[in-house]
Amino acid sequence: MDQIEEIKSKVDVVELVQEYVPLKRAGRNFKGLCPFHGEKTPSFMVNPELQIFKCFGCNLGGDAYTFLQKIEGMEFGEALQHLADRVGVKLVSYRPTQGEQLKEKLVGMNVLTGQVYHWLLTQQKAGKEALEYLKQRGLSDEAIEKFKLGFAPDNWDFVTKFLVGKKKYTRDDLARAGLAVKNYDRFRNRVMFPLANARGQVVGFAGRVLPGASEKEGGKYVNTPETEIYHKSELLYGLDVTRAEIKNAGWAVVVEGEIDTIASWQAGVKNVVAIKGSALTEKQVELLRRICDTVVLALDTDVAGDAAARRGIEMADKNGLMVKMVKLSGAKDPGDLAIARPEEWREAVKNAIPVYDFYLQSAVERHGLEVAGKKKIGQELLLVWANISDEIVKAHYIKLLAKTLGVEEGDIRQQMAKILNPKSPTFAEASAGKQIPRREILEEYVIELALKGGKTGELPEMKTDFWARVAQELVKDSDPRKLPEELREKTQILLLKDGEFAEKEWETALRELEEIEVRERIGTGQGDVRKLTKRLSELTKNK
Ligand SMILES: [Zn+2]
Repeated sequence: MDQIEEIKSKVDVVELVQEYVPLKRAGRNFKGLCPFHGEKTPSFMVNPELQIFKCFGCNLGGDAYTFLQKIEGMEFGEALQHLADRVGVKLVSYRPTQGEQLKEKLVGMNVLTGQVYHWLLTQQKAGKEALEYLKQRGLSDEAIEKFKLGFAPDNWDFVTKFLVGKKKYTRDDLARAGLAVKNYDRFRNRVMFPLANARGQVVGFAGRVLPGASEKEGGKYVNTPETEIYHKSELLYGLDVTRAEIKNAGWAVVVEGEIDTIASWQAGVKNVVAIKGSALTEKQVELLRRICDTVVLALDTDVAGDAAARRGIEMADKNGLMVKMVKLSGAKDPGDLAIARPEEWREAVKNAIPVYDFYLQSAVERHGLEVAGKKKIGQELLLVWANISDEIVKAHYIKLLAKTLGVEEGDIRQQMAKILNPKSPTFAEASAGKQIPRREILEEYVIELALKGGKTGELPEMKTDFWARVAQELVKDSDPRKLPEELREKTQILLLKDGEFAEKEWETALRELEEIEVRERIGTGQGDVRKLTKRLSELTKNK
């Protein structure tokens, strides 16, 4: 047994998960609210026997390593090290891959640079002007400390000298870390905002030009480009500072810029993060729904008129996040408002409205309620409404839209059906897909019952490719852990499903499966039709 397996066998996955999620016993499994998506009724199962977890809501599943990787954002090597320490195994066999070593190095360089920038801003003469600027903009010492703001001096090779000269990194390393362009420092004469990943490691920077300085070189903001460790679309600015507050509150305010985040935090709305641009990405939604179930958007962009922003919201909705919008009357920028009138900012956040109400209000304000306006409102909103994932919520907004436009609900639904062209691929996918044949459902269920009730020796012959193979294997060896790898996960998950074995259930399922078999054979003329028909009437007699 290698160390990866050894450690896994010593870790109690139930205990590990329980440090994040309260679990309750449910038969052979433990059950709780999924930490990876927002839910009110538990569909997150952990099986102590197989040492695996599975969420039947968002479909995430795996072992102790996967769990740590997902919940802490660790690399595999880190999860391994973490669990090895936990169970007191000294790792000998595992060497970090080249990729992991490189990432570690690049992170190390960014962390060091962030420390030096921060030191320059807060302790040194060179950073004095920048510090004064930040204070004059209304940022407090506490905020500057908490978000570790820094200053990049007006110098072509300050960081290069420090990292290459003193710390013995190479120029190539510097470029890969995003800190240099063509052998020169990327950031010069700028206020620096360190960007941390989900684990709180500095992986890049946003550098804001000082007022009065030339904006020619790169403009108002210069950001770290995509590197092996910095991915713009995966980062939520401020999360390293505000995670606990978001978790406690159960909701997060999402703003667009670094200063907006800090200003909100300072004004007492501490459960805040920022995205770059107006659209939430899939990765950001994933990060958020692990720690909260509602996002309150306060963006500079006109969300209703911005297709990318709307797509981000749609995705958040599909992933179970409730989305609300802050309406800023008068003030353009959340940051300015939070600094100038913190009370008003807190109030605005408190009064956030569900995003679909916001869309409707915005459309009415823009187009008016004349006939031409109504048509435009319809065109704009029907597609959005059609994509609302919860049917009850959808019905509510169809009603509200009908009322606002002064038409019948039926008219709205009819128009919606027209817009959703049945020839479009998404439509076909949604309506045609997902129809799993009854036989497949039953075969899966029979295997589930056989595993739970120790009946794998009595499994009947199966026809669906996947389950037929599983049945063949299980008849030989009843332990699902010994299945070939490609069959293992999907089969093990059956043991995490609710419900215990019952003899009666087993017999009913077997009969129903046989009924399908007999009907198929009669239909295709295989075998003695008289005998088959007789058997069919026996099988269906007591139904
Ligand atoms: Zn889930």
